[in-house]
Amino acid sequence: MDRRDFLKRLSAATATMGLAACTPSEKTKEIIGTKSKKPTGEMTYRTVPTSGDKVSLLGYGCMRLPTVQHGSAREQKDIEIDQEELNAHVDYAIEHGINYFDTSPVYCQGRSEHHMGIALKRIPREKFLIATKLSNFAQEFWSREKSIEMYRNSFKELQVDTIDYMLLHAIGGTSGEYNSTHTFEKRYIENGILDFLLEDRAKGKIRHLGFSYHGDIAIFDRALAMHDKCKWDFVQIQMNYVDWLHAKEVNPNNTNAEYLYAELEKRNIPAIIMEPLLGGRLASTLSFIAAKLKAHRPEDSIAKWALRYLGSFPNVLTVLSGMTYMENVKENIDTYSPVEPCTEEELALLEEVAQAMLRYPSVPCTGCQYCMPCPYGVNIPGIFQHYNKCINEGNVSVSNQDENYVKARRAFLMGYDRAVSKLRQADHCIGCGACVSHCPQGIKIPAEMQRIDKYVESLKQSMD
Ligand code: SF4
Ligand code: SF4
Repeated sequence: MDRRDFLKRLSAATATMGLAACTPSEKTKEIIGTKSKKPTGEMTYRTVPTSGDKVSLLGYGCMRLPTVQHGSAREQKDIEIDQEELNAHVDYAIEHGINYFDTSPVYCQGRSEHHMGIALKRIPREKFLIATKLSNFAQEFWSREKSIEMYRNSFKELQVDTIDYMLLHAIGGTSGEYNSTHTFEKRYIENGILDFLLEDRAKGKIRHLGFSYHGDIAIFDRALAMHDKCKWDFVQIQMNYVDWLHAKEVNPNNTNAEYLYAELEKRNIPAIIMEPLLGGRLASTLSFIAAKLKAHRPEDSIAKWALRYLGSFPNVLTVLSGMTYMENVKENIDTYSPVEPCTEEELALLEEVAQAMLRYPSVPCTGCQYCMPCPYGVNIPGIFQHYNKCINEGNVSVSNQDENYVKARRAFLMGYDRAVSKLRQADHCIGCGACVSHCPQGIKIPAEMQRIDKYVESLKQSMD
């Protein structure tokens, strides 16, 4: 079935699965606040071909859990997860049809699995599907013993006997001086870990096996060439309306999602989607671009467009969204309860928007923090986030002759000091390169730091 047929048939084919509500505590009710506009039971579900699992089109990403400091556990240092707020999110999510929760041993500075285990323990086991990963990136975890220890610890932290979806985490990346092929061999093949996981799937300890992919396309192709042996149940890829046709323009190391998706679709392997908002950049775009979308659907947020886009693809199983605040949870649930796929005209508009966005050179940082800590204290994701935010808000000027130069300069410099403390700004980067190999987006971090620092200096000098 092609996408056009799919659009016609989607409303009839949308499966629904009502999930009973948990009884929320008074504090939970307070956190949840007003009820979502949508009643329960309208979430769109997709089916896993190998098992028949019905998976909610919206997946709860556990990388940005809420903290007592009222922020996201992905971006902050010295975090303390707000368990009560997290429980409220999980209750609301389950009540409104989300059943897929995606974590990893490395998320939230290694605390995500533990806190998700506490939150999900309160929920009947048949009401949720838990996904986690073998995140054995560091060379100290490449041995069979260490990898198995990490794998077993996930069961313990999550307080489950079975893991529903297990992923080889971020294949295609490099490690230290080693290239992607060497790293893949060491992490999964030479130590027999892939065979071990296949055996555990056969025993039912894990119900589905797949991988998430970033980086070298040769490793993606190699893993798919192993499909006859591995019978991958699903694969997680980076996809959104910019990466569909323009991934290489955002980051030369990436591959267009059109290719990744097509390779999965032809093998009938469902796609799980990460980075639906391109690290947040599709949630708050340049104001003239936002105006184009608003003119078409005045009620819809910019983020809703990105989620509707992904829901328009029939082979997308679930779209992962890291939701730090209850309003994100509610809005995303509304978007997929049920999904309203984009029309052909809307898809063309989003392609136009993607092309317009690419004319403004933001840094493709997703905020994953894999590059941290910098030995010299540089707040790498914080700097990139501020720079990108200023681009999106029109506060990065190409020339001091620009009409709004003075206003933009003020906004950039004042916001910079607020977002990143002086000791952690780009001028403290000595270019040692220690961070570079950890970045799944392949960002040339020292060069970008130098570029941003030069820009900051030029702004300061123009004030003299
Ligand atoms: S290159 Fe710069 S940002 Fe990266 S680790 Fe070295 S000092 Fe830190
Ligand atoms: S620079 Fe790279 S590794 Fe660091 S937070 Fe951004 S995307 Fe992640």
